[in-house]
Amino acid sequence: MISFIGAGPGDPELLTIKGKRLIDEADVIIYAGSLVNPEVLSGRKDTAIVHDSAYMHLDQVIEVMEQTEKEGKKCVRVHTGDPAIYGAHREQMDRLDELGIEYEVIPGVSSFLATAAALRKEYTMPGKSQTVILTRMEGRTPMPPKEKLKDLASHHATMIVFLSIGFMDEMSAQLIEGRYEPETPVAVVYKASWPDQKIVIGTLKDIAQKVKDAGITKTALTVVGDFLGDEYELSKLYDKHFSTLEYRKAVE
Ligand code: SAH
Repeated sequence: MISFIGAGPGDPELLTIKGKRLIDEADVIIYAGSLVNPEVLSGRKDTAIVHDSAYMHLDQVIEVMEQTEKEGKKCVRVHTGDPAIYGAHREQMDRLDELGIEYEVIPGVSSFLATAAALRKEYTMPGKSQTVILTRMEGRTPMPPKEKLKDLASHHATMIVFLSIGFMDEMSAQLIEGRYEPETPVAVVYKASWPDQKIVIGTLKDIAQKVKDAGITKTALTVVGDFLGDEYELSKLYDKHFSTLEYRKAVE
């Protein structure tokens, strides 16, 4: 049984208890060395063999998994954040299905959630935005035709842009072209939950320059939307004049 594990955003204490147990018990560990904090592996067995997937292609990853299974040993595949978000995860599972190898998936804290925590903000603000779009810019790999940033911007939802910190000028231009106000607040969080985390706050007009000035070129998320501002409606959930269906009656 191969275990795919979401390692969380960086802080090793943000690894799930289950993920940690499986890593600590593993004979073979394949992890994304470019993003996963090596400290999440610190409890591993002395005999554990560690592979950095940054230097491996898909066939090599699968070969290691297959070999480990044949030897009756335990292999874990450690992804940054949660494997379901830009994890190149499905292609590995499909190959294991073809080979008849069993696997399980242990979710992790995605960096977009660690980013909200770092900012101390809520993405879904009553009366402002009740929808969150996770996306990325078109870069070396294309975007599907109906998912251009400009088109997604028209919803004025909370927008979280992965993998795109190198294209801040184009990103802001496309969002403004998609009718976000140039004054729309934007935050960039570099290495959320790591000791060297950095936060840059601005608007669509000035964020690209501010990010350059801060020297941020990788491992950062851009979050855009009015949820960063201070105008919103209070929730109905905790409104004392609002009865919830099962739990609480309104105060007269
Ligand atoms: N599966 C991961 C995302 C992998 S894609 C997750 O759930 O978070 C890699 C991109 O994620 C990076 O380019 C960056 O945009 C973002 N990222 C990963 N870790 C981050 C962190 N600690 N802080 C900010 N952004 C991060």
